[in-house]
Amino acid sequence: MHQLTLAEIARGLADKKFSSEELTKVLLARIAQLDPQLNSFISLTEDLALQQAKAADARRANGENGSLLGAPIAHKDLFCTQGIRTSCGSKMLDNFKAPYDATVVAKLAAAGAVTLGKTNMDEFAMGSANESSYYGAVKNPWNLEHVPGGSSGGSAAAVAARLLPAATGTDTGGSIRQPAALTNLTGLKPTYGRVSRWGMIAYASSLDQGGPLARTAEDCAILLQGMAGFDPQDSTSIDEPVPDYSASLNGSLQGLRIGVPKEYFGAGLDPRIAELIHNSVKELEKLGAVVKEISLPNMQHAIPAYYVIAPAEASSNLSRFDGVRFGYRCEDPKNLIDLYKRSRGEGFGPEVQRRIMVGAYALSAGYYDAYYLKAQKIRRLIKNDFMAAFNEVDIILGPTTPNPAWKLGAKNSDPVAAYLEDVYTITANLAGLPGLSMPAGFVDGLPVGVQLLAPYFQEGRLLNVAHQYQLNTDWHTRTPTGF
Ligand code: GLN
Repeated sequence: MHQLTLAEIARGLADKKFSSEELTKVLLARIAQLDPQLNSFISLTEDLALQQAKAADARRANGENGSLLGAPIAHKDLFCTQGIRTSCGSKMLDNFKAPYDATVVAKLAAAGAVTLGKTNMDEFAMGSANESSYYGAVKNPWNLEHVPGGSSGGSAAAVAARLLPAATGTDTGGSIRQPAALTNLTGLKPTYGRVSRWGMIAYASSLDQGGPLARTAEDCAILLQGMAGFDPQDSTSIDEPVPDYSASLNGSLQGLRIGVPKEYFGAGLDPRIAELIHNSVKELEKLGAVVKEISLPNMQHAIPAYYVIAPAEASSNLSRFDGVRFGYRCEDPKNLIDLYKRSRGEGFGPEVQRRIMVGAYALSAGYYDAYYLKAQKIRRLIKNDFMAAFNEVDIILGPTTPNPAWKLGAKNSDPVAAYLEDVYTITANLAGLPGLSMPAGFVDGLPVGVQLLAPYFQEGRLLNVAHQYQLNTDWHTRTPTGF
């Protein structure tokens, strides 16, 4: 039963082949048995899951239907869950029980999804390897000595290991797409404003966006349908109707114009990944797509701009964790300043402290214009590059990451080496565009992802291309040994 996709689960439940309660019990037992190897969960919510599963079964018995009714999922542990620990992977919030549900959590619960637990993540979503979590590193089910990617590494590892069919993630600079690539999943970062950020603990507010991680594009469509939509509680949420994503899967790719940026294939890209990306282009050409070389001339400035903007916003967002209002408080503070200093010094890990310092520096008087303002100007140039490219093509295609999953610890001593892994993903966040990563093959037994980018609000187009690709390839069906 653990091999079923969300789409198959919905059919099985509708046909009364099994109940949501039975399925939930099977998956909870599987998590108890296998997750000690992976460490993909921070908290399990067995009681809530069984209660939600029974309620979903009752709703189905009353004639209700729906793709998510009774479907088991998990939430990255930065989505607030009422009365349940919401740690953000940090000692700072180890004792924090959210007083309310995030909009995404509430919407999925209302659709009848069953929450099995909260997944492990890089501390405050800062990282690309899931090694900065206070709860320990997550292992990649494809090779337990390698990282699963980050920051949504727990969601990715759990879905890849078939502990559950799908999970939520968030993507500030690649944290859905990169772990999807490194664990052989399909992951989608929606257009900025498509999914509510209310109750999603902020890292960099102008870049953060929640989205689905699943094995197939078909399942991403189902989960995104439950997550997307206008939310008056989030001032950056956009009041646009949500299309039927599942209905968009079956369009023909005849005449689809695919742009492949020449800058994507420079030094730094593993040549074996380059070859797999070219193979995926050929596959899409067979389905009728037309391929064209394009240029994104400002791409080389994306990493420096992102690593100014994201820390700047983080330094501001994380100022609320002061030992007074919520979360960790140091023992026996001598005075208020001591309380602030030690609560933050003891509650935040080293990567979070590094980013707060970088961000505070970039925003300080005298440096603001040189760093923050300059980075914002680069951000606009990157957006303009994309706008020009989308005048010529419908989709932009390239690698999701320059390398496959690296060994645990391999990049710990050099944060910049890890930052460079974000080279292909962060431009979509800087521009606010939707992006999807899907399985494209293997290098040394480790999965490789191909990334698709589309114009604003064209999530349906991304899912359509990915679904057609997945009907004609079987990379996404491969299962890691032992799981
Ligand atoms: N790796 C990037 C960072 O560390 C992106 C993380 C994310 O998308 N949350 O900032």
